Amino acid sequence: MLAELKKEIYLANMDLPKYGLVTFTWGNVSGIDREKGLFVIKPSGVPYDELKPEDMVVMDLEGNKVEGKYNPSSDTPTHVELYKAFPEIGGIVHTHSSWATSWAQSGRSIPCYGTTHADYFYGEVPCLRCLNKDEIEDAYEKNTGLLITDYFKENDYKAMPAVLCKNHGPFTWGKDGHEAVHNAVVLEEVAKMAARCERINGQVEPAPQELQDKHYYRKHGEGAYYGQGK
Ligand SMILES: [Zn+2]
Repeated sequence: MLAELKKEIYLANMDLPKYGLVTFTWGNVSGIDREKGLFVIKPSGVPYDELKPEDMVVMDLEGNKVEGKYNPSSDTPTHVELYKAFPEIGGIVHTHSSWATSWAQSGRSIPCYGTTHADYFYGEVPCLRCLNKDEIEDAYEKNTGLLITDYFKENDYKAMPAVLCKNHGPFTWGKDGHEAVHNAVVLEEVAKMAARCERINGQVEPAPQELQDKHYYRKHGEGAYYGQGK
């Protein structure tokens, strides 16, 4: 079942250690087949060097396991909420990548200090609040998803394909698992550079809005002209 998607998401998961975004078994990538309403996700706690495409777990959007010998990633209920609320995404990544997580643990959104950031993320990458005691004790992973989808009721999840959860770490998404991983790698670089900028210049200001707009809109939306597209 979903052999192609399993292979794609297996490869996307293997990109996490390749790009230095995960330690041990931390982190997970999922990808969805919208027609079937099923997604595949990394199994929980299986080391990356033992992972195989057929180990990917197939889930439905009610959070039921449809196929797989392993339990799915413990973060699966978060992925479910994001897929339900963001109809145009095809893949989700969660990591505890060091620089992005450092911003999350500091409880700070990442300001847009330059064009690398603006090319991918429109405005500051938001850091959401920590969950409260009740939200943590009952249905923690689902509540993490609801906190994120709540924020994006008022904000554009396509213009900001990343979020930081306070005291926890980043989630990113994209049109498929590969793009979600790409965004996770860019987020980590942007987080690292922003931290350095503040160390080099304690008074550093966000990039001018017109520069942010230029870089974001030349790659995204109606008038995009960056690259070899149509
Ligand atoms: Zn986590």
